[in-house]
Amino acid sequence: MKEQELHFNSLTIHGGQEPDESTGAVMTPIYQSSTFIQEAPGSHKGYAYSRSKNPTRSALEKSIASLEAANHGIAFGSGLAAIDAVLKLLKPGDEVIASTDLYGGTYRLFTSIFSKYDIAFHFVDMSNLREVQNAMNPRIKLIWIESPTNPMMALVDIKALCDMAQKPGVLVAVDNTFATPCLQQPLKLGADIVVHSATKYLGGHSDLVLGLIALNDKELAEDLYAIQNASGAICGPMDAFLTLRGIKTLHLRMQRHCENAREIVAFLQEHSKIEKVYWPGLAAHPNYEIARKQMSDFGGMLSFRLKENSREAAFKFLSSLKLISLAESLGGVESLAGHPATMTHASIPLEERLKVGISDGLIRLSIGIEDHRDLITDLKQALAE
Ligand SMILES: *Cc1c(COP(=O)(O)O)cnc(C)c1O
Repeated sequence: MKEQELHFNSLTIHGGQEPDESTGAVMTPIYQSSTFIQEAPGSHKGYAYSRSKNPTRSALEKSIASLEAANHGIAFGSGLAAIDAVLKLLKPGDEVIASTDLYGGTYRLFTSIFSKYDIAFHFVDMSNLREVQNAMNPRIKLIWIESPTNPMMALVDIKALCDMAQKPGVLVAVDNTFATPCLQQPLKLGADIVVHSATKYLGGHSDLVLGLIALNDKELAEDLYAIQNASGAICGPMDAFLTLRGIKTLHLRMQRHCENAREIVAFLQEHSKIEKVYWPGLAAHPNYEIARKQMSDFGGMLSFRLKENSREAAFKFLSSLKLISLAESLGGVESLAGHPATMTHASIPLEERLKVGISDGLIRLSIGIEDHRDLITDLKQALAE
């Protein structure tokens, strides 16, 4: 069957994947080799040196391209290495619009590294398109979207923003880490570039750090390959292999992440100690209609605020959890809990943090694929403490 005829749940397994040419191995082997033999100078089988190209990495790049309905994929040593490469498309004097509610590491990369190279950043509330419009000027060359955002689960209307902002010379990039291509395909909504921290759902087992880019434009892909080859931020073949293995069950895992999140949201909403639950699948969520329009389901990430909105109450809850682990990161098979105010968003000044809603009583959950009844039992006992 032609790849174009396959559904997403088959593409996770077969998209861009061929049995290994030299041995027939069904899984692309871990080509743990830095260099490849040449018959004559410059004459080889497509691989010369693993910074430039490696067969295991190439298989992963074809997989992510297939999942994001893209022509090109590029694999990096981490999500931030991929984001770094996109920013290196810019020149001094260029400007970027990004969301106020941005992944902390991306915010740090923008403001503490790229601002040194005379690139200016405008942080706006992207769920309000007028704010984006007001920040537009002829020096804007990149619009950086995250949707859903972390930890408030706000959504950006990707298609409306692309329609409004896309002009020649202005790129729209979407960090699709939280939704994954299983729930949301930004290129189909008009974005130019999709970026992933594959460390999270794509890898899916909390056992690697890796970044991915997918895009359609050939010249832009060549520029990004050139940046990667020049800067060297590649992933190793072992991590490429593990990510490929993770991707094969992405659709199954995402389905369970979403189902479990729905059950847990229903439990939390009824609980007397909880003030508010943030999850895009709630009809009361301010961006619910956007979620229904651009996502096929609502994801496994949620946040909630305790009625006793204090650090003490949050810490007591978190240290009482027995099955759910208190840890950074997300998107793995195991459920994790986090305290944004002191963990992922600790570097954001208090006033900014409160403006976005990240108070001391806010808890973030990455819902895993355990039996939801066990997760609810754990939450119930920790809330009773
Ligand atoms: C984790 C994460 C990143 C950074 O990825 P690394 O693989 O840790 O470098 C970027 N964006 C989002 C939304 C993330 O969750």
